[in-house]
Amino acid sequence: MRIFVTDSLKKLFFIDVDINKFSIVKELLRYYDIPTELVIVRKNGEIVTENVPITEDISLDIIRHLDLPKLSTLPVLRQKTKDSIYIKAVQKFDTNKNKITIFERELNKKDFINLFENTFLDTIKKYDMIPKHQKIGVALSGGKDSVSMALIIGKYFKKLGNPDITTYTLEGWGQEQENTYRYAREIPVKFDFKHRVITTEEITKAFHLNKKYEKVFEEIVKTKKLTPNEKTLVLAQTQRRMVEITAANDGIYNLFFALNKEDLLSEVILTYTTGHLAFSLPVRPVAPFTYYYPLAFLSKKEVAIYLNLAYPQYINQEPSQLVECGSQTAQFHIKFCDNLFEIWPGIEYELFSAYKKITAYMKDKIVLSKCRNCGSTLVDESNDTSKLMCGGCKIYKKLGFIK
Ligand SMILES: [Zn+2]
Repeated sequence: MRIFVTDSLKKLFFIDVDINKFSIVKELLRYYDIPTELVIVRKNGEIVTENVPITEDISLDIIRHLDLPKLSTLPVLRQKTKDSIYIKAVQKFDTNKNKITIFERELNKKDFINLFENTFLDTIKKYDMIPKHQKIGVALSGGKDSVSMALIIGKYFKKLGNPDITTYTLEGWGQEQENTYRYAREIPVKFDFKHRVITTEEITKAFHLNKKYEKVFEEIVKTKKLTPNEKTLVLAQTQRRMVEITAANDGIYNLFFALNKEDLLSEVILTYTTGHLAFSLPVRPVAPFTYYYPLAFLSKKEVAIYLNLAYPQYINQEPSQLVECGSQTAQFHIKFCDNLFEIWPGIEYELFSAYKKITAYMKDKIVLSKCRNCGSTLVDESNDTSKLMCGGCKIYKKLGFIK
């Protein structure tokens, strides 16, 4: 069947449509990568929605002057390799030649491991993540991201200038036999890193909880008084703050966290959809600490493939608990980021460098305060420092675990 299309220059052309392939117009638009906001759908000349079935009397008006056929099928330069297991794509804009090209590189196992490790090491170098003669704290939960981070630091220890590394892991309670926790204990031994296990007593004390942290944790997991987002937030914030407190006791203020590309881009999206002030990425100054994110240019999938190929002995982590999965909104942000990488591969390079500039303008606006319960550094947007508490402590208070 032939569907007639008028473009914004009033030129008429047609698409030959296999009606067995699509039942409604929206599916056809999706197939040809045409956003519905670019098209007015008409049936017999009258405007209808894109959810109508495809029939002979359907026509499409494209309402902007975009060269859709070209934009939807950008040229791809593919570097082929035998036995490829992964494709790394980057989109490049050549404004002088008025041309956009997607560069795709097929990678076999060896290429993949090299590219992964080099991206990690380049990020450390480019952002000066290992300051000379300074101690580094590495948050090591035993999950895939933090395990990859610790393994590469260990493998390239000399190349990184023999940094003084201490890893930090939260004590497992009843989890000592589990793989995730076992990895967190084994890896520091393997590389002779200093290792600190943060105990649940230390958490109880640091957050001034009126019950043992094990009990508090159990209740947070079970309670219906908290949203999924609050549950994820309080657990994540507790872990992060405990790494800070323990590291500061060891005189360590440079902290490595294993947030990957999607995790960090989600934060960028959150800044732009809430308007809250934010610190830069992938190096984040949260006085008196500096956080470093060396996995900033690597995705969750790349981390998983890397471990599978390079360190298959560390891939059997226990499944995430539901409380770690976040709200639907947070999950949507992650999916949105992955969709974005699909539409514009390599956008993270542009976005993170732009974000660095933008957050530099914000820097002067940021007033720092401290949480009155746990001492965590806060961006104060309220101008009321008297009652200030971090998000995590507010939740502990809401549940009656602190005064
Ligand atoms: Zn707090």
